[in-house]
Amino acid sequence: MDAIVRLKALSEQMSFEPAEERTPTGTPYLDKTENCPDAVFVHPAILPNGQKIKLLKTLLTSVCERDCFYCPFRAGRDFRRATFQPEEFARLFVMLTQKGITEGIFLSSGVTGGGIRTQDKLLDTAEILRHKLGFRGYIHLKVMPGAEHAQVERAMQLADRVSVNLEAPNTERLARLAPHKQFIEELLQPLKWMNEIRRTQPSYRGWQGRWPSSVTQFVAGGAGESDLELLTATQYLYSHLGLKRAYYSRFQPIPDTPLENQAPTPPIREHRLYQASFLLRDYGFELEELPFEADGRLPVQSDPKLAWAQRNLAEQPIEINCADRHMLLRVPGIGPKGADTILLVRLQTKIRDVISLRKLGILTERAAPFLLLDGRQAAYQPSLF
Ligand code: SF4
Repeated sequence: MDAIVRLKALSEQMSFEPAEERTPTGTPYLDKTENCPDAVFVHPAILPNGQKIKLLKTLLTSVCERDCFYCPFRAGRDFRRATFQPEEFARLFVMLTQKGITEGIFLSSGVTGGGIRTQDKLLDTAEILRHKLGFRGYIHLKVMPGAEHAQVERAMQLADRVSVNLEAPNTERLARLAPHKQFIEELLQPLKWMNEIRRTQPSYRGWQGRWPSSVTQFVAGGAGESDLELLTATQYLYSHLGLKRAYYSRFQPIPDTPLENQAPTPPIREHRLYQASFLLRDYGFELEELPFEADGRLPVQSDPKLAWAQRNLAEQPIEINCADRHMLLRVPGIGPKGADTILLVRLQTKIRDVISLRKLGILTERAAPFLLLDGRQAAYQPSLF
């Protein structure tokens, strides 16, 4: 198969994998410009530093010896597979970058010859990109199940972001998705090493000037797990392993896999999981405060912050001119940026009405029912309940 045709197939197959933030209008597109003899899938992405780039998400190979129940690349599934060798792939990617088609890469791989050998191929590719071809742009490198400590450290020296897909929140749930993967030894351990390497070598100044961030991905709803289980794992990763971001990829059945008849996870569940995980990461919420139902699911009708506020703030609105940052962040419609703006403005003047609040960028339709503005309930009260 021609190299571009292979890359097109691999980049298309990886389109489902979440990585980095999408730009608001960022639907993946097939770049078919006059610069390119064929086309590859490109993702408009926002990097952790806010920079917008054209990200190529791809595998080095779609051949895999493992048999995870949900995965389109599982061994034995009948579809046309494609493979690159590290040097060939690196040169092709740099050519696409020179033509302005891509600016960064998210590189993963099917497992062939074991996790260690596969990781070596990913590392070889990154080494060639960085040290032979002089690529200075963004690299997100996947760490394979079973990779060794030295490989994890090398990946961190070469990449801007590293990730391990946990897939499930614990050993029992993983057994229902990927029975031949070992949750603790193969998946969690590399994430622990990443955190340990960052902690024990704080003065590291590689070519990026700092250690890369680490992220993971869960297949939401694939193993019958509850939101409570997923968010318990997420909370642990944020608080103990320095994880930057947990991604939730809703389960969607793939034909010709053992889970092909299982119902897909509704998009709203994925959305609620993201909202709840941001409450844990950015809003100072504890896991126990999230509004779980008796079965461990989050309510789907309202977002988790609104559900919490309805239970806790509806009878006791908070005074916007006195509340500290922690309390401001609990009000629906007020995010970290909005809370900081309110604190700054309060140094100069009191906030007395909804219009002033709206001018600060606060979503007043959501926030007003839970606030006192200089001792008075906001004049504007939308019907929230
Ligand atoms: S190891 Fe990765 S690529 Fe292979 S079947 Fe499992 S999830 Fe899919």
